Amino acid sequence: MKNSKIDNFLKVKKELGNKVILNEPMAFHTTLDIGGPARLLSEVNEDEELIKLVKLAFKYKIPYIVIGEGSDLLVSDLGFMGFVIINKVDDVRINGSKIMVKSGTNLQKFINFTIGKGYSGIEKMSGIPGTVGGAIYGNAGAYGQTISDHILKVKTFNGKIIKWYTKTDCKFSYRDSIFKKKNETILEAEFEFEKGVSEFMKKVSLDIIAMRSQKYPPGIKCPGSFFKNIIADELSASVLNKIAKEKIVYGKIPAGYLMQEVGARGQQRGSVKIADYHGNLIVNLGNGKADDFYSLAYEYANKVEKKFGIKLEPEVQLLGFEKL
Ligand SMILES: Cc1cc2nc3c(=O)[nH]c(=O)nc-3n(C[C@H](O)[C@H](O)[C@H](O)COP(=O)(O)OP(=O)(O)OC[C@H]3O[C@@H](n4cnc5c(N)ncnc54)[C@H](O)[C@@H]3O)c2cc1C
Repeated sequence: MKNSKIDNFLKVKKELGNKVILNEPMAFHTTLDIGGPARLLSEVNEDEELIKLVKLAFKYKIPYIVIGEGSDLLVSDLGFMGFVIINKVDDVRINGSKIMVKSGTNLQKFINFTIGKGYSGIEKMSGIPGTVGGAIYGNAGAYGQTISDHILKVKTFNGKIIKWYTKTDCKFSYRDSIFKKKNETILEAEFEFEKGVSEFMKKVSLDIIAMRSQKYPPGIKCPGSFFKNIIADELSASVLNKIAKEKIVYGKIPAGYLMQEVGARGQQRGSVKIADYHGNLIVNLGNGKADDFYSLAYEYANKVEKKFGIKLEPEVQLLGFEKL
């Protein structure tokens, strides 16, 4: 690492004082409880602070990442030689028939708010961890609902200017958005929902949370599903012929099924294990290492490619793996 870069980290530290921590283990900030140190780490509670820190990263030309609750992150054991900004900017406001929500708002808090006000459309996403910003970034969803369904527009900061993206500009698709390709910080979003019956939606929400706790028991250390499911329409007929038709659910082939077919369930490396009951759920049993997680996941993804000709792509975002 060049000395000038190290100097720049120290300059940011000097400007921010005790608002920034040096060499903070990312394991403390991910649901997987894995990850080496972030060179610099800071938490923000206001938009102005968030914008200021992103501007500082640009000013000193240091790599940075804005994260939410770290529920979709695999950070390498060597950590991240950059600036991690944890977004805790939290606010939900009703503006006529629209709802404005800040990106650091916890997703469940937002869902509960909509249910309480009698708005329907995201109640089936109950139990998905993380922030609204993280959900928009990866177009999170469950049980046929996705965060993008009711988005009107998204406000971002690109290091220089604040911009509004219309829903079309966001290019949402299955677990994807334009923000995976652009280095922009999501600040807030505007939503519009249909009216629903609060009592009914509340029951749906609680039932789904109870159901999800079977797959993800409290305290489990994981980043949700590791690989994305496969959109059946995007496969050639010869590849599709290898898949039993009844395995295609809502037009998708579950990555868990493909992993299971190559014997992934129950496999373990070090303290990292693929769940006995789900081929796409990889868990840190205790002192798990990112290297073990990554190599175990890809050992079986490679077997999937060999057997089915299907290349699995991670749904989880990788940080600090640039040299792999
Ligand atoms: C037990 C469990 C179950 C899960 N179930 C589901 C599920 O059913 N469906 C589903 O879709 N996902 C699921 N996930 C994955 C995860 O919860 C979601 O992807 C969630 O939306 C991530 O939000 P986060 O705030 O934790 O993002 P983080 O993990 O903090 O960040 C993920 C990515 O988003 C980017 N990001 C976050 N905030 C911003 C921002 N403000 N601006 C720009 N980029 C940003 C980060 O840079 C990073 O690249 C599950 C995870 C766990 C642990």
